[in-house]
Amino acid sequence: MSAGRRIVVIGGGLAGIAAALDCAAAGARVSLVEVRRRLGGAAYSFERDGMQLDNGQHVFMRCCGAYRALLARLGSEPNVFLQHRLSVPVLSPGARKAELRRGILPAPLHMAGSLARYRHLTLAQRLRAGRTAMALARLDLSRRELDRVTFADWLARHGQGTDEVQALWDVIVRPTLNAPAAGASLALGAFVFHTALLSRADAGDIGFHAAPLSRTIGEPAERALAGAGVEVLLGWRAERLQKANPGLVVRRPADALGADAAIVALPHARAAAMLATLLPDTARRLGALESSPIVNLHVVYDRVVCEEPFAAGVRTPVQYVLDRTAAGGVPPGCQYLAVSLSCAEREMQMSVDALRETYLPALRELLPRARAAKVERFMVTREHAATFRAAPGTAALRPGTRTSVPGLFLAGAWTDTGWPATLEGAVLSGHAAARAALDELQLEPAPPASADPAIASAALSGTRA
Ligand SMILES: Cc1cc2nc3c(=O)[nH]c(=O)nc-3n(C[C@H](O)[C@H](O)[C@H](O)COP(=O)(O)OP(=O)(O)OC[C@H]3O[C@@H](n4cnc5c(N)ncnc54)[C@H](O)[C@@H]3O)c2cc1C
Repeated sequence: MSAGRRIVVIGGGLAGIAAALDCAAAGARVSLVEVRRRLGGAAYSFERDGMQLDNGQHVFMRCCGAYRALLARLGSEPNVFLQHRLSVPVLSPGARKAELRRGILPAPLHMAGSLARYRHLTLAQRLRAGRTAMALARLDLSRRELDRVTFADWLARHGQGTDEVQALWDVIVRPTLNAPAAGASLALGAFVFHTALLSRADAGDIGFHAAPLSRTIGEPAERALAGAGVEVLLGWRAERLQKANPGLVVRRPADALGADAAIVALPHARAAAMLATLLPDTARRLGALESSPIVNLHVVYDRVVCEEPFAAGVRTPVQYVLDRTAAGGVPPGCQYLAVSLSCAEREMQMSVDALRETYLPALRELLPRARAAKVERFMVTREHAATFRAAPGTAALRPGTRTSVPGLFLAGAWTDTGWPATLEGAVLSGHAAARAALDELQLEPAPPASADPAIASAALSGTRA
């Protein structure tokens, strides 16, 4: 480890990992403390009865340049798969499959063909939806008032009824914002559509984790951090952060770490508690930022019941279904499907039996081959605070990286990155915090390592906080 200025990063999720790597690359002495015995934070996997389960299905898009650059830095690119061309099969009970697919036209017209053929809406509804998409493309994202209304309110003003919202808009809004259009900020919804679908034709191509999340994020991050000279302290619960003279001190009951700079990369509710004394106003705002849950159902069938690697569902409680057979280590011949349920308030309260009684019939309705299949296993993972709630009013609650306390910086998907709570937002926030800390300590950031110029420039430009 170099003997330079010391930076302590608190929290070993993607934000903390990105921040620690950047700080070490610039020559700082870095310690990263993480309460759990593993890195990766909200994106992890674990073994149950010989199967590898992700805590929740994590997907990304081609436009997630900072996340993709981090994967490259961790040597994890072979563990992910990026669609050559955006294609989302959309299933509905008793109806033929539809597909949201990028065509050959330039953005924003690249989705026009598949929208024109989208059989889950009537022809009149498709035409209205197309006009609404064009109005969305013209929306000026810099208008602050966009964060005062819901996306559904704006859609309704543009002629989109509940049916269109559920059968089309929520297919994209729900998984990206972890909120339905009815509860989501127009600012965040419009950001997603502009960034992923309306600006560049290939931006929304979807990326999947082909291997378990911990093998793709947490474990390689531990190796990369060690290789970069970062001291990684697992099982280290930071309890207090205090000013020292000079710098800051991060405490737990047993001991403390002194630092020239500290980067708080905790989940937002924990950050609120940690910052209560030093930054009461920020802590109060973070306290008002609510959370939204995600529930995943892990269903193993005795045969293949779904031909698609993933699919969305409409007019069914099944929001998304992903084939995780290979990633989960399930033998071919059987099929492991993960059902991903965003903003799953209702499902958080349901017992495993109740979820089984609701979702197995829904899967049988959607996937005819499941009707004759035997369910070998049914497991549930629940994340009660998966992301911050992307409701109207959140922009004012999300702090930037820099704070009024010298040497203290913030990172996390909840900081003011402009992105919803995502893998990309977390990594961008980590880069931004590292840049700010290095700037204050007068250390020069190292140039990004990615060979892909598009990815490297995204990593370099970082957050707009
Ligand atoms: C089920 C689920 C599905 C998701 N799906 C997607 C998706 O498809 N696409 C997408 O882009 N995003 C998705 N997300 C969101 C994404 O995972 C997060 O936005 C991102 O991982 C957050 O990273 P972070 O570093 O900001 O925070 P975190 O990952 O929460 O990291 C914070 C870290 O701080 C640690 N910590 C807490 N308290 C202490 C303490 N006192 N001392 C030390 N350490 C502490 C925590 O253990 C954690 O490791 C999903 C999230 C979940 C939960």
